[in-house]
Order: sequence, then C-alpha cells, then structure tokens
Amino acid sequence: MPALPEYLTRALLESEGVPVVPGVMLTSAPATVAGFPVFLKAQIPGATSRKSAGLVRRIDSPAELGAVLPDLLSRDRCEGVLAAEALDIELELYAGVVFDAGSSSALPGGRLLFSLAGGSGIEARAGSLTEIRFPLSSPPSPGTLAASLPDAPWRASAADLLAGMARTFCRYRLLVLEANPLAVLRGDGRVLVVDCRAEFEDRAVRNGEEALFGTASARAGDSTRLERMVDAFNRSDPAGTAFFRQNRGAPAPGAVRVATNLCGGGGKMLWEMAVGGRDDIFALNESDTSGGLSAFKSYRFLRAVLAQEDADLLLFTGSGMAFQSQLNIAAAIWKALRESPCVVPVMVRFGGTDEDKARAMFERLSGSLRAPVRTYPSEVFPNAMVDSIRGFLEDAGAASPVPPSCPPGGTPAFEVAVPPGRFHVDGARCAECRERPCLGACPTHFLAWAEGCGPAKAEGQRCTGCLMCEAACLLDGSAGLFIELEMPEVE
Ligand code: SF4
Ligand code: SF4
Repeated sequence: MPALPEYLTRALLESEGVPVVPGVMLTSAPATVAGFPVFLKAQIPGATSRKSAGLVRRIDSPAELGAVLPDLLSRDRCEGVLAAEALDIELELYAGVVFDAGSSSALPGGRLLFSLAGGSGIEARAGSLTEIRFPLSSPPSPGTLAASLPDAPWRASAADLLAGMARTFCRYRLLVLEANPLAVLRGDGRVLVVDCRAEFEDRAVRNGEEALFGTASARAGDSTRLERMVDAFNRSDPAGTAFFRQNRGAPAPGAVRVATNLCGGGGKMLWEMAVGGRDDIFALNESDTSGGLSAFKSYRFLRAVLAQEDADLLLFTGSGMAFQSQLNIAAAIWKALRESPCVVPVMVRFGGTDEDKARAMFERLSGSLRAPVRTYPSEVFPNAMVDSIRGFLEDAGAASPVPPSCPPGGTPAFEVAVPPGRFHVDGARCAECRERPCLGACPTHFLAWAEGCGPAKAEGQRCTGCLMCEAACLLDGSAGLFIELEMPEVE
C-alpha cells in the first residue's frame, strides 16, 4: 500500500474541514517562519520512527532554523520540511480509520478506531480501542460518534474531527487514515490533528505485474521516469487507481506500437484478451484507471501515456462501470490532446455513465482536434478495435501541426489543493461572455460570478476536478478559462 507523507495527508484532511496543527511547508533554505518554537518535520515518503531518526526537531530561534533546515532538506527522498507550531497540549488521543473487507455476515466498510492512549505505539493502545463500524456510503455523523466518546469537555470537538476523518477516508477511498496524536488543547479544549498518515489502494499495481508483459515486465527498483511521474501524481491526488507500467520488451518488426489507457475490468481485461498472443500489436504500457478518479487525474495520466516515445496510436477503453463518468473522461482526453506535445491518432471506446454524451462531445469536436480520433460505442469490443487498427492508421492521415495549448502564465485567479489545479481566468474574455456556461456546468456550485473578474471560487463549496467548466467554456463560452494541471518533473 503506497503511503502518503504527512503534508499530503494534511491536505486531504483540510479539504474536509478537519482541523490540523497550523504549519507551513518549507522546500528550500534559507526560510523564515512566523514564530518560535516550531517543530520541523522532514517529509519523506514511507519514513517511520521519525523522531529517533532525527527527522523531527524542535526549533527555538532563527539561528537554529538556519542550521537545521538545510540538513533535513538534504535527506534522501525528502520532499520538504513541515514547520508546525508548538502547541500547549493537555491530552493526546489516537484516531484511525481502516478499510474492513467484510465477512459472510457483514458488508465491506470502514472501521473507526479511537483511543485515549494518543502518541503511543500500537501495542500500548491495543487494549483501549473503541471501534465503530460504518458503511462507506454513509460515514458516521458527529452526533453518532459523540455517543461513543467519554463525557469530557472536548467530546463535541473530537466527534466533529472524527466525523471529518471518516468523510476524508470515504471521499479519497483510502485504506488507512491515522491521526496520532490528536491534541486536546489546554484552555479551550479544541481537538486537532498533530501528526497523520494515509495509505491508498494499489491492488491494480500488484495484479498488473506480469499480467501482460510476462518476464519482460518491470521489477522492483527499475521504474522508468514516466512510471515515477505517475507515482508522484498518485500521491498528490490519491483517489482512484492510476496504474501505469511500461513494457520492457521490444516490438516485433513492423508491429504497431500502442499506448494505452484502459479502465478497470471492462477495459483492461478485454484489451488483454484481444492482444494476447498477437505480435503485430505491441502494447507500450499496461494501464488501469478506475475507482472513480477525477478528470484532473485522468488528464495527468493521459499526458504520461502520451509522452511515451515512438507511439503509433493511443487507445482508450472505458470500464463500463456506472461511477466512471465518461463525459468527465472525454473532457480529460480532449484536454490531453490539446496540451500534449506528442500527438498520435486516437481510438476511444467510451463505456459507463454518460457514454453517449461523451461520444457526442467528440463528434462535435470532429475536425478541430490536433489528432485524428475515432470513437466507438461500448457495444464494440476491444477485439474489433484491435482488428481495425491498421485500417484506421492508413486512413488517419497526419496529425495537425498546431502547437499544444499552454497555460497563459501569470498568477492563477484561484487554486484548489485536492485534486490540485490552478484556475487561470481571462477577465476581458469573461466580460464578453453572455451565457457564462462555466457556471452552469459545475456540478458542485464551486464557481460563482465575481463582477469585473469572471468565475471565482464560492466559499464552502468543493471542486471535484471534473473539468466540465473548462470544457463548457471552450465549447460554448469565450475561452476565458484555463485549468493548469501540473505534471511532476521526475529526474
Ligand atoms: S464560460 Fe469561459 S469565458 Fe465565459 S464566463 Fe465562464 S470562464 Fe469566462
Ligand atoms: S470548478 Fe466545478 S466544473 Fe470546474 S473542475 Fe471544479 S467541480 Fe468541475
């Protein structure tokens, strides 16, 4: 199970309104902080026992900060240093949420764990855990949780926080979410998260190893630059599987080299059945995007898939699952085709919710895309797509010489942290836009009109990274919106 470092877990918790100890992320030295003392915590993926390894240090002065920060930043795989305020703590608690696979008498769900033995290891708190089971579709409310907590001044605050942890666990489909310790502050009795970690799904990765490429598959420790890129944005946006593994084999002479984005069982298995044993088709990569990942993440995944050298074709198949919005995925594919430096002909088989709308979008775009695209309905199985690859490539013609779209530069109008995206708004274009279709396209009402500026983020609402606003703006608005989705640099 890949683990998220503390600073990324904090971002997930904060997106659900869970209070965390105030802190800033420092990524270079020298740096300043608002006040002392602070605790510096090196952010190293998978690091355990950080205190004993010297990765957590109390700092009392600017001179000490200047001496210690460069050392922590230089540690192997350090992604930055979190400078967290020192707190006046009355009591330390423990909370965790873990995935429960269920049994013959209980459906799969979440298990919320709570203990008064905060700050301790698992042995110390094992006998004192309160456990609350809940369905993943309905995380427990603060009222329900309060009834299971001790009658203490901090009970209501702790119940709010635990409910937020359960929501975070469900929203991002995590396998483990731990806060250890939670701090009860002296004086006002507020409860907040001091340290935290999360683990997320990677079953597709383990199942995928060896499935298609046999002995030529990747082995531990030999990951490619693009695989590390996918790992990096999986950690910044963990909801939903994004599995990517490049083929280490060599194509047979004359084979068509296909870059793939396959979704879940409906896409991945059918493709593997269709190409198994054929040497005229060479899969450049294995892939699986499923579990309801955001369009932001689908876009980043497609950019990695399209960055493979020597691809002749991109092939996408939807999963057929109801919760994979094909319209959102269509927006992600369109965006990747606009913005990727590499352009190849594309075969797309949408399958799942709104697959007809997704195909209609591409039919509307026909002739304006930088790459030749052929779409298929879900009734067409991948074996028929595979059989038509050579004919499609012969008919496809050359890709358009139009250069890729780039972010407009400058400071974005606003940003979202999870899933991460920067929204650039061209106020002059928006002023001319009569219908403002971006606003109506947003399913969560995250966008609100700001007079003289254009769309802005509405307080209290959430962006799910569906890309519907940008697609609506380009299709029916005045092209005043650009969502910048960062592609991690990987050495
Ligand atoms: S649709 Fe585009 S151009 Fe029109 S208001 Fe929205 S962001 Fe601006
Ligand atoms: S602002 Fe709304 S429409 Fe745009 S990506 Fe976020 S949730 Fe989707």
